[in-house]
Amino acid sequence: MRPLAFSLLRELSHEHFVSGARLAEKYGVSRSAVSDALRDAKNSGIRIFSLTRKGYRLAAPIELLDVDRIRAALGNTAKRVDVEVLATIDSTNSELMRRATGGAPGGFCLAAEVQTAGRGRRGRVWHSALGDSLTFSLLWRFDKGAAQLGGLSLVVGLAVLRALRTPGDTGLRDPHSVALKWPNDLVAGQAKLAGVLVETQGEMLGPTTVVIGIGINLNLSDTQKNNINQPATDLNALCVQLPSRNRLLAGILRELVLVLDEFRVTGFQTFKAAWREQHALQGKAVRVLHVDGSSLDATVKDVAEDGALIVTVKGKVLHIAAGEVSLRGAKQ
Ligand code: ATP
Repeated sequence: MRPLAFSLLRELSHEHFVSGARLAEKYGVSRSAVSDALRDAKNSGIRIFSLTRKGYRLAAPIELLDVDRIRAALGNTAKRVDVEVLATIDSTNSELMRRATGGAPGGFCLAAEVQTAGRGRRGRVWHSALGDSLTFSLLWRFDKGAAQLGGLSLVVGLAVLRALRTPGDTGLRDPHSVALKWPNDLVAGQAKLAGVLVETQGEMLGPTTVVIGIGINLNLSDTQKNNINQPATDLNALCVQLPSRNRLLAGILRELVLVLDEFRVTGFQTFKAAWREQHALQGKAVRVLHVDGSSLDATVKDVAEDGALIVTVKGKVLHIAAGEVSLRGAKQ
């Protein structure tokens, strides 16, 4: 979607029509440029009514990301993070990795309205749609080597969970409807609500640059749900009312800074018990899926200090490293 479309969307309301002439004048473009840009937005899934002589009106309100609103909601954390909002990018993780190579500082957060090539682990696709999800990445720098950062993606999940449970930022009808799923997902029941993708750059012994990517579903369309090859859910289904994307982003960043500060000192060890308590599959029978298509039936026992999942298979204890496998409840 072209940048003009994002600017125009900020001018539109779901309550009244705004004339094409006014939009064209404000942005110094022709009326046909306005109409083309808004057609772009429609093609990206935004429902816009247009009427000759009246102009354009949104079918439903959308809240685009806004750096000032995010900063206001960050409170003191605004001193620790710097947020940039992009209209569209391939993947916020890929772009932040590129910026990290160019010297972007720790605490830099890149959020995007649209990801054209959102990624999950092992090259998988992360689906999102304009205004209906929150996708962003945070750059963090550690003195340690990547080998000492085991469990990082797990504590990131915990931070997101804490933010979702903060009254006012999200408004989950039942705060316990959301739980963690090893290694890096947030789920409601068996359905995936959010995913975390942690990528690292650096030497074995450090320092390490970490890019933490987070995608959360706010309002998935049926088409999107059908495109995702596992059960998925959104905050719309779980909250009293749809949370503000700007406040939600700020709330997650606040919790992330807290856990990353602690993690820097203690590693995963101090989070282990809290994480296990929120693990949806703790003590449960699971199926461990390997990349080669093979699978293993196991029972979840615990999580290790390096973030590995401890399971038993026919009485034998196994440590499973994140990155190698996917986990499913046995009944899925
Ligand atoms: P799994 O969820 O199978 O363990 P993973 O942890 O490797 O896989 P992620 O990297 O978290 O997966 O995300 C990619 C996977 O998540 C995709 O393969 C797809 O199944 C699912 N997915 C993609 N987009 C969404 C979305 N918006 N909401 C929920 N699930 C999604």
